[in-house]
Amino acid sequence: MAKVNPDKTEEIFEKYFKAGRILSQVRSEAKDRMKVGVSMFEVAEFVEKRTLELGADGSAFPCNLSRNDEAAHATPYAGEETVFGEDVVKLDIGVQVDGYIADSAITVDLSGEYGDLVKASEVALNAAIGTVKDGTNTAEIGAVIEDTIIALGFKPVGNLTGHGIDRYTPHAPPSVPNRRIGNGSVLHTGDVIAIEPFATDGAGRVVDGSLTEIFQVVRSKPVRLPAARKLLKELEPYRTLPFAKRWCKTEQLDFALLQLEKAGIVHSYPVLKEAGGGMVAQTEHTLIVTDDGCQVTTK
Ligand code: MN
Ligand code: MN
Repeated sequence: MAKVNPDKTEEIFEKYFKAGRILSQVRSEAKDRMKVGVSMFEVAEFVEKRTLELGADGSAFPCNLSRNDEAAHATPYAGEETVFGEDVVKLDIGVQVDGYIADSAITVDLSGEYGDLVKASEVALNAAIGTVKDGTNTAEIGAVIEDTIIALGFKPVGNLTGHGIDRYTPHAPPSVPNRRIGNGSVLHTGDVIAIEPFATDGAGRVVDGSLTEIFQVVRSKPVRLPAARKLLKELEPYRTLPFAKRWCKTEQLDFALLQLEKAGIVHSYPVLKEAGGGMVAQTEHTLIVTDDGCQVTTK
């Protein structure tokens, strides 16, 4: 992963940092807007528009606003009127500059009752970041995250992981576990990874929910149905980056999406829910591994 042309290294890393700086600002402005009674759709659209205004080339994926026992992959549908309640909200943002991605999440506790849970994911992320340098095994990261979250009285969500990041590829190898595993992968200087501990008071794993608003083109091949063909054309600018259904204007959208999914061209990301119905908190940063530590791009 992150195999870069040595001549381009500085230029490429500057793009990762630019994406990270924009993300940090958008994240902080979005957080200030998240209040009980505020439209989720408006916050998601704000994040995506602001990302462009601040000079990014686009979102690396739709703004995720997952509430309570939803861990990830929730985003409003077109025109959705749902407002935030006293929810525990995971705000997960992706920004790309020339395909170089920043991925970061915070949990905003609008209930005022889950501060300890949120803290557990934050402390686990900081502890994990502290272990990263050239030569760190991802198994060490998983162990630190598990131990930290358990010591604070919660469980890590074991079947969600952090990940490597490549150009136009938000999820690349290696996976970065949130629990103790047997064999991990060794990280090297220049690797770009996202670490994202999830803490819960539930079962410690997620299952697919019934709603899906986020999709991704995973391979291209010819399609015959006009609606599917039109949609595939509309999706070209996103390349291999995930997109939201609400971004699409093609008519017969559900039908077209289903055809592309059946053909193996589009992959769907259903909302992920805590298996025991537990509350979930997530905190995430993107970082670049260095010889003696790492540089967080999304501080
Ligand atoms: Mn994320
Ligand atoms: Mn991520």
